[in-house]
Amino acid sequence: MNKIILTGIALMLSVGAFAQKTYIHAGRLIDVKTKKVLTEQTIVVEGNKILSLSAGYQTGTAEDQTIDLKNATVMPGLMDMHVHIESQTSPTRYVDGFRDNEADVAFKSLPYAQITLMSGFTTVRDLGGSGVNIALRNAIASGLVVGPRIYTAGKSIAPTGGHADPTNGVRRDLMGDPGPEQGVINGDADARKAVRQAVKYGSDLIKVTATGGVLSVARDGSAPQFQQDELDAVVETAKDFGIHVAAHAHGDEGMKRAVRAGIHSIEHGTLMTEETMDMMIKAGTWYVPTVTAGMSAAEYAKIPGYYPTVVRDKAMQIGAQIQQTFAKAYKRGVKIAFGTDAGVFPHGENYREFIYMTEVGMPNLEAIQAATLNAALLLGVESTLGTLESGKIADIIAVSGNPDQDINVMKDVIFVMKEGKIYKQ
Ligand SMILES: [Zn+2]
Repeated sequence: MNKIILTGIALMLSVGAFAQKTYIHAGRLIDVKTKKVLTEQTIVVEGNKILSLSAGYQTGTAEDQTIDLKNATVMPGLMDMHVHIESQTSPTRYVDGFRDNEADVAFKSLPYAQITLMSGFTTVRDLGGSGVNIALRNAIASGLVVGPRIYTAGKSIAPTGGHADPTNGVRRDLMGDPGPEQGVINGDADARKAVRQAVKYGSDLIKVTATGGVLSVARDGSAPQFQQDELDAVVETAKDFGIHVAAHAHGDEGMKRAVRAGIHSIEHGTLMTEETMDMMIKAGTWYVPTVTAGMSAAEYAKIPGYYPTVVRDKAMQIGAQIQQTFAKAYKRGVKIAFGTDAGVFPHGENYREFIYMTEVGMPNLEAIQAATLNAALLLGVESTLGTLESGKIADIIAVSGNPDQDINVMKDVIFVMKEGKIYKQ
């Protein structure tokens, strides 16, 4: 017994004595707070944290490692505030739901998580799946599998027949009557139960579908889905747990109800009016545009048979409008955090959002700020993530080229470090 303890102490001492630091030489480094590009900087990483950041190229002792990113642009790990990590678009998606068991979903999600991290996204907010997303979050956090840090909503909450009712479009004898445990609610009591159940299952946050949606096999894509008292009950209950609520919304009335209820973020926001934008500015509500989802759905809708007919029609109608809404909301001053809806299009293409955002007037470095500092603020983790500062968690990525001049280089992620560990070099 004593021998084991002594060996343990000896091991700890030896690790301590040879604690290796990593010196990252950054040719360009984006300060996402000031939206400025610094040149010739050194970031020193020890363990999972950033130890220091200084001008010029410093080197450590012989035991320390040096990473040469002198020809690259270094920035904080990217954060996507709207993904569906456990699924990905496919022409067989609607049939797969009948074939795949939870274990199949889990195995299929592993490459999605991996490619997301390798694309420079070290943190994601997962806005709804089957519940496998909770297990995946845990598996990544404990180092079992490779992927980004996940904050997950678990299963989304909707009313009967709403966008996130998992039995929409299903044969009647298979439909059953899902309730709060499955995230389907009617009335404020159900709403409270669904939130409490989600927390019990391990959700980090709550997602509601405040209006109809494009990809559900249901007729309407934009009408409001909850009564005000239901949304109020969801938000109040979540508040008691200290967690936030995100609302999927395409139509304006559903968005207004969500903002009135005190929702933390509006997702998509397709038909958002100026009145709603002003309500959001006043309430401090975040907007997560997911332009890429709209663009992708509109494209897939052109492929015959890719979506069920009811979905195809909605995708064509709603899809491409988000970019203009984003442009208006940005100019009006709504708080914007980066989010793509990855899964609606292939994981790993999250960078496309940067291109769509900057295309309609957001400066390149501000789009990167939306995907780092703003995302951290949305999650309430700005004291540990979102910027490159001493004491913060070492989530650091680099792209070749200069995204300040050409945003397309966000596709070329050449270096990924998450919590001090290098995943791509
Ligand atoms: Zn989504």
